[in-house]
Amino acid sequence: SAKSAGRNRSAVFSGTLVAIARERLEVEVGLRSAVPENQLQLLYQPIVHLPTGRITGAEALLRWHHPERGLLTPAAFLDVAEETGMIVPIGQWVLGEACRQLAAWDAAGHPADVDLHVNVSVRQLVEGGIASAAREALSASGVAAERLCIEITESALLAGDDATSELGAVHECGVRLALDDFGTGHSSLSYLRQLEVDVLKIDRSFIDGVGTDEHDTAIVSAIVRLAETLGLTAVGEGVEDEAQAQALRDLGCDQAQGFWCAPPLDAASYETLLRRQADGEPVVACGGLAPG
Ligand code: C2E
Ligand code: MG
Ligand code: MG
Ligand code: MG
Repeated sequence: SAKSAGRNRSAVFSGTLVAIARERLEVEVGLRSAVPENQLQLLYQPIVHLPTGRITGAEALLRWHHPERGLLTPAAFLDVAEETGMIVPIGQWVLGEACRQLAAWDAAGHPADVDLHVNVSVRQLVEGGIASAAREALSASGVAAERLCIEITESALLAGDDATSELGAVHECGVRLALDDFGTGHSSLSYLRQLEVDVLKIDRSFIDGVGTDEHDTAIVSAIVRLAETLGLTAVGEGVEDEAQAQALRDLGCDQAQGFWCAPPLDAASYETLLRRQADGEPVVACGGLAPG
């Protein structure tokens, strides 16, 4: 009957809710040991200067080696980490590890002009005291503040005065700020004036059709012009092929990041690219150069 079908549906539905609740609890419990058990890892995705094809730095991207489920990307655990506040100690680990790795590359003789981008979520900003966490990580590693760039999404700009003043404090100590996934949030452009942002990362969704879809191309073009006018660096995110890279170059976009150059790499593989670059080999196909 319709009634029992309805009962079955709600039984299935609550069964699903139970499964979701159990899954979240498992993630939460597991995350508690992720830092102490050394299960977290940073991967490094190169960011490339489009006119020359040179690597300018990398974005650090978090991975969790789950003891049973294997390698997890942030999509599998970031929400839970945020909701439980565990993102605060995790974020401190990320900052410390990123700076430690940068100092290790310097010590290995790599040119000191490559920077490192680190993602910070809204909850980390204020609760995590990001400015002092960054200062601590920098002084422990001896890395210069300008080498570090903190990526936030537009939602951080809407999170209130505490978040805004925390970002001001970050900028004050010389760390640069990037607006991530730019163009997808709801913030007003006036925030770009109030806040000392240095980098605009153009969201992947607009890069998809750059050079082929006229609307995507127009939006990317407008963001690049905006960045230019405000004296900011524009970075295209999620660039997957040379056609997109060339379209960005034609629009005057400074930098690009994406599978076109490299996926997120472990520290050793990223270091290999830096070494090839130092040896004068092109790292990406660019400006008529053959692929390296
Ligand atoms: P995001 O900061 O926008 O990072 C870019 C994401 O796009 C990364 O996903 C990267 O692997 C992926 N990607 C890079 N190139 C391409 C491409 O050419 N095509 C496609 N389809 N994807 C590409 P990932 O590593 O899964 O990270 C997802 C998000 O998780 C990040 O987005 C960032 O918001 C967040 N995240 C990553 N690491 C951290 C962290 O240490 N702390 C915090 N709070 N958030 C992090
Ligand atoms: Mg990012
Ligand atoms: Mg992004
Ligand atoms: Mg994102």
